[in-house]
Amino acid sequence: MSQTSRRRLRWLTSRLLAAPIVIALLLAGLPGASPAGAQESDPLRVVTTFSILGDWVTQVGGDRIEVVTIVPAGGDAHTFDPNPEQVASVADADLIVEIGAGFEPWLDDMVAASGSGATRVVVSDGLDLIGGTDEHEGEASPEAAHEHDEASPEAAHADHADEAEDDHGHEHEPGEVDPHIWHDVTNAIASVETIRTALESADPANAATYDANASAYTTELNELDAFIRDETARLPEERRKLVTTHDTFGYFAAAYGFEIVGTALNSLTTGSDDPPAREIATLVEEIESSGVPAIFAENVSNTDLMQSIASEAGVTLAPPLYTDALGDPGSDGETYLSMMRFNATTIVTALGA
Ligand SMILES: [Zn+2]
Repeated sequence: MSQTSRRRLRWLTSRLLAAPIVIALLLAGLPGASPAGAQESDPLRVVTTFSILGDWVTQVGGDRIEVVTIVPAGGDAHTFDPNPEQVASVADADLIVEIGAGFEPWLDDMVAASGSGATRVVVSDGLDLIGGTDEHEGEASPEAAHEHDEASPEAAHADHADEAEDDHGHEHEPGEVDPHIWHDVTNAIASVETIRTALESADPANAATYDANASAYTTELNELDAFIRDETARLPEERRKLVTTHDTFGYFAAAYGFEIVGTALNSLTTGSDDPPAREIATLVEEIESSGVPAIFAENVSNTDLMQSIASEAGVTLAPPLYTDALGDPGSDGETYLSMMRFNATTIVTALGA
């Protein structure tokens, strides 16, 4: 085979391999296809990684943008696996808005597979990021931290010798940061500002609209922040203690004066395995000594684990909080504003009992 025909064969092969992607792109483009010459008025195409960002971006962009949200309401972004249609939507995007800080571990591969040239907007950039809350548990409740090993030394060494010096068996890597920035409304306000700036520089013609929308929404976010402060202030300080499925409320705790007693998964992600019996026993003891009347399940996780922990500790399992996703339309977690109000009210009601 000549040099030329070999090159042609290679070219043909690459075309054939690319064909499904090209077809997917064409299909994805069909419903919104515009007549020739109308490109200038096409709305900005913005892909957001999950439902809370989808809400923020829609609030700022209004009817001037087209928003595609990858992980839908109720979905778990930590353990998500994108399908080909979603890859195609990324290929088509002008902007991709993400949390960053390790929240969307699948996104880099997805963008690479799509060949997208979209501008990536990382809302956690420039925010004051915290680590996992395990690092601070010892300081928060020193008397409760290490009673367990003395009580049952044989259990401590059964099958987790490597965790011997760490009661919590936590899975936080050194330097790992907490991506759940949205539970502090101040971070939502900063993120809306980041989104506004990104939309305006991608689409200066509609800057005045983005500006007005962002201002109006920021006013609502400030009201939300004040609401959460008033609501949580009704709880005596010694009752502001949270137990949840995974380590999602670090920013909420820091912003609104709560302590994280412990989490079932001891992890910043929901993607970790169910904890071994010894860790559950430790958490049950921590719940008992903290005196909390209730613990919390999450809308993105199976509630069975939390129900069994609650039963064992003799406390109430409160209604699931909206932690890592909005709720379905019509639910209490339909929007970021309503989800945060629901969380604050549910926490105060459950812990004030
Ligand atoms: Zn999470």
